Amino acid sequence: MNTSNMDAQALLAGLDLEALARLNQRLDLGALVKAAAGMSDSQLKGLTRLMSAAPEKAPSLPTPDADFFGQMDTLTQAQRDFAGEVRGFMHTHVAPVMNEYWNRDEFPRHLIPELKKHDFMRRIWNEDGSRTPDATIMEGLFTMEACKVDVSTAVFFGVHAGLAFASIALGGSDAQKAEWLPRMLDMDVIGAFGLTEPEGGSQVSQGMRTTCKRDGDSWTLRGQKKWIGNSPFSDFTVIWARDVDTQEVRGFIVRTGTSGYEVEKIEGKTALRIVENGLITLTDCRVPDTDRLQNVQGWRTTAEVLKLTRAGVAWQGVGCAMGAYELAAAYAQTREQFGKRIGEFQLIQNHLVHMLGNVSTLFALCLRLSHMADAGDMRDEHAALAKVVTAARCRETVALARETFGGNGILLEYGVAKHFADTEAIYSYEGTNEINTLVVGRAITGLSAFV
Ligand SMILES: Cc1cc2nc3c(=O)[nH]c(=O)nc-3n(C[C@H](O)[C@H](O)[C@H](O)COP(=O)(O)OP(=O)(O)OC[C@H]3O[C@@H](n4cnc5c(N)ncnc54)[C@H](O)[C@@H]3O)c2cc1C
Repeated sequence: MNTSNMDAQALLAGLDLEALARLNQRLDLGALVKAAAGMSDSQLKGLTRLMSAAPEKAPSLPTPDADFFGQMDTLTQAQRDFAGEVRGFMHTHVAPVMNEYWNRDEFPRHLIPELKKHDFMRRIWNEDGSRTPDATIMEGLFTMEACKVDVSTAVFFGVHAGLAFASIALGGSDAQKAEWLPRMLDMDVIGAFGLTEPEGGSQVSQGMRTTCKRDGDSWTLRGQKKWIGNSPFSDFTVIWARDVDTQEVRGFIVRTGTSGYEVEKIEGKTALRIVENGLITLTDCRVPDTDRLQNVQGWRTTAEVLKLTRAGVAWQGVGCAMGAYELAAAYAQTREQFGKRIGEFQLIQNHLVHMLGNVSTLFALCLRLSHMADAGDMRDEHAALAKVVTAARCRETVALARETFGGNGILLEYGVAKHFADTEAIYSYEGTNEINTLVVGRAITGLSAFV
């Protein structure tokens, strides 16, 4: 046996047999060895040199980034810094505990003082209830960054800093604003927003069953409110009720502990398990007239609050889809099947590109929506269409992301399952797909298809 044959033998003897067996599934090793046996000395020397050369360092793979078009670069430095601060908060404080709290069906209340330290709300609202010049962008960035990690955190914040705060900011008297808003900004008191009823959310503007009746200096509230986020631990809930005498919709600040006001936590949700939702029962609940929101102009004020917060819910779809995309892209770079990373398969790349297209489109849409809102140009139908599109494309994106994980996609520990589940709630609240579609349809045709 010549030297080169001996070199080749030594090389083969040192091979990992298991790796060889895997290689044998892709290469005909027998034919390879046969070919090697017929090689000249110089050919064998070349082959030996080639095989024993130190393996080239694999090129580093790009870090998955949902902002493919660099849309963050179109924002101001202060806006980018704000987004970075929220991102840091989510990774430091929420990510380590979120699965535990998801399993416990509970909100991590110890995070409220941490949120307070960052003073996030003051980038959106002023103490007098007016909004900062770029409030909707800031709110959107908070929501997007939070939802990339955990949608429930954004919902907790959206209910307190959006729905409850806006109800007082838009419907409260100066005295009510002074009493509540600074403490809400400091997160020393937490608010909830009670509009939906057990008999239905979509019809609530026309068929509100919760009633209020004036009796001297106070009001008596009767009825039920369902799904009310934060209410199991909030300090107050804004309750919307129909005046039995005038049929007008009125808003009340109902303080926790008021006699006749009871909250039962809704258990067993399959989405947004970290948000605590309550079923509120009002049994001859007496509220002083001083806690009636003094400047509410009937349903018009409720609708104004919802218009404002609907833009925020559209951003939930952006962040949730982004988070799911980045998880899926990272998984595709590492998970191996058939001896290849699954990201090397064309069908998986198709999933990822489709997801990234959705995410990029939704981000652009919501940035535009928020710019319009901050300029005072956003109409109901803009917020409604953005909510319809983001929820639907988010649903498609998280489904593709979950699929990319195979079976692991339904395990909480891999992250994507939570995004997948939470999207179902995004899809249905703040106006369902159907109701928001009817809002847009009416605007573009001038014809109402509402029943
Ligand atoms: C996790 C979660 C959190 C929530 N948080 C709050 C909260 O904090 N405060 C609050 O007040 N509410 C809250 N909600 C309630 C939410 O806003 C309602 O669930 C939503 O408005 C839909 O109402 P519904 O569930 O009663 O469905 P329904 O109104 O019963 O609708 C059922 C289906 O019928 C369709 N439909 C209804 N009417 C029409 C029509 N005219 N044409 C075509 N289709 C129609 C709907 O689109 C939907 O598909 C929350 C809900 C969830 C799931």
